[in-house]
Amino acid sequence: MDNKGRIIKVSGPLIVADGMTKARMFDVVKVGESNLIGEIIEQREDRSSIQVYEETSGIGVGESVTSTGAPLSVMLAPGLLEGIYDGIQRPLNKLVEASGARIARGIDMPAVDLERKWKFEPRVKVGDSVEAGDILGVVQENVVVEHRIIVPFGIEGVIDKIFEGEFNVTEPIAILNTVKGKIEIPMLKKWPVRKGRPYKEKLPPKEPLVTGQRVIDTLFPVAKGGVACIPGPFGSGKTVVQHQLAKWSNADIIVYVGCGERGNEMTDVLNEFPELIDPKTGEALMKRTVLIANTSDMPVAAREASIYTGITIAEYFRDMGYNVAIMADSSSRWAEALREMSGRLEEMPGEEGYPAYLSSRLADYYERAGIVKTLGREERIGSITAISAVSPPGGDLSEPVSQATLRIVKVFWGLSSSLAYRRHFPAIDWLQSYSLYADRLKVWYDENVGEEWGELRREAERILQEEANLDEIVRLVGIDALSPKDRITMETAKSIREDYLHQYAFDDVDTYTSLKKQLKMMRLIINCHKLSNEALDKDVDLDDILSVKVRESIGRSKYIKESEEEKFDAIDRDMRSEIGSLVSEGE
Ligand code: ADP
Repeated sequence: MDNKGRIIKVSGPLIVADGMTKARMFDVVKVGESNLIGEIIEQREDRSSIQVYEETSGIGVGESVTSTGAPLSVMLAPGLLEGIYDGIQRPLNKLVEASGARIARGIDMPAVDLERKWKFEPRVKVGDSVEAGDILGVVQENVVVEHRIIVPFGIEGVIDKIFEGEFNVTEPIAILNTVKGKIEIPMLKKWPVRKGRPYKEKLPPKEPLVTGQRVIDTLFPVAKGGVACIPGPFGSGKTVVQHQLAKWSNADIIVYVGCGERGNEMTDVLNEFPELIDPKTGEALMKRTVLIANTSDMPVAAREASIYTGITIAEYFRDMGYNVAIMADSSSRWAEALREMSGRLEEMPGEEGYPAYLSSRLADYYERAGIVKTLGREERIGSITAISAVSPPGGDLSEPVSQATLRIVKVFWGLSSSLAYRRHFPAIDWLQSYSLYADRLKVWYDENVGEEWGELRREAERILQEEANLDEIVRLVGIDALSPKDRITMETAKSIREDYLHQYAFDDVDTYTSLKKQLKMMRLIINCHKLSNEALDKDVDLDDILSVKVRESIGRSKYIKESEEEKFDAIDRDMRSEIGSLVSEGE
């Protein structure tokens, strides 16, 4: 009677064993003769319910189960970046190399290469006092990212020795004199995935995660350290938005957790992601990315674990002082895994069969996002922005996963199938979506982009809202019933939608718009609106106002390169002279 037990029941990915009196909740166990990896998710006296991360076929009653005595943990060290992992951080590419496309079971493989030597450059010297969170030194992991090696949590002392040179991740790079004696510190750390890594304090978000996507940055910005969701039906552009954010947002590190939607969708991500080029560095995007993939032939339990694996890796980079973005695509698939395990545990089902703890689990996950002051003597700020796709069946947002998510997240980018059908991309519905950060971020935008930002944005929002109201009237009695002023509003709203919000991801220039250019584009559209109204007040004919040529130039302004700023001024001049001449003709 100890940490060894015997299987008494097998139900798909769930097995029940008895006899493991010493085992604890969340211990990792080895199951059966083939040593499958599992985790205890319920412990009642000597009965353990275990979710198994590998296919359990062939495993039978009576086989043995052994607890490792340790919770599910990830390995954190140089070598993580460019990694492609499964939900429990086994390196997928190496597994495939070792056993072919159908991954053999029971393979235990380290997440990072334990042999590879890294060039370690110290940042402290003998005699320095250090505490948890302090940077001992750095490794240039690749051309893009400097991997900072920090003092592990719970350790404090004086540097007795610090090494410089080439080391693998298990060799000590420093020796500390502590109250408990000398401690050797290697680069490799382990951390249990279900427990958030500590930090000094959480800070209120005040800077946007700049994405270069106009509808997001302008209307529905997400803060660095914020939480956002993208619900949308199949084909509405969730994946394109997430790829755009991975490519263009000003996050230092991307963690992408893919829970396969359909059979081969995850394979698409696995094929596509390594091909993406990081526009900022010209290097492969993978150099600042960690990919966690659950192909649909993998057991559901691994999918359940994958978001914790992902967020723990994100926290590790946050603790180095980086801005990390974690994308989960899609959290609905994760919730389904939770539902399946709950069903097999015969728990009391909540709404639509999801367990009652669905919302608290989701909240625990999003709670780990945020902008923080990290541990350590030196002040360092790091952030995790969590962006999750949600794929409600039939696009119906009243279902439990969407509802639970909406209660937590502060940004909602609602994708609309009717916009996607009309090929208005990104199909983010401007009337439905919201960002609770917008007001807080206004100060930042006004200071860093231009002080009219807030006002222009408000005006654009107002015009779009008014269009929605006028649309009702037009539907009932036709466009001719509108006053000339309303007609101008309709025209401006159209321009906001088509010239501004619509952004083609596959055009070299349009794919990314800097905030400065966003301001210039917005200014043109809103100025055109104002000048049109002024002309109307001076009795210029409505048709003349609506057919000014400058509207075409505004429509094409999205294709103006970032380096050709002066073209905006030229359009502005043309606009003033064209509309101005209509006014003087009338006088
Ligand atoms: P989902 O992941 O929601 O099923 P996708 O992201 O795969 O949908 O998008 C479906 C298709 O819509 C894409 O293949 C692409 O043709 C088009 N699309 C989506 N967003 C954009 C965009 N920003 N620009 C151009 N085309 C887009």
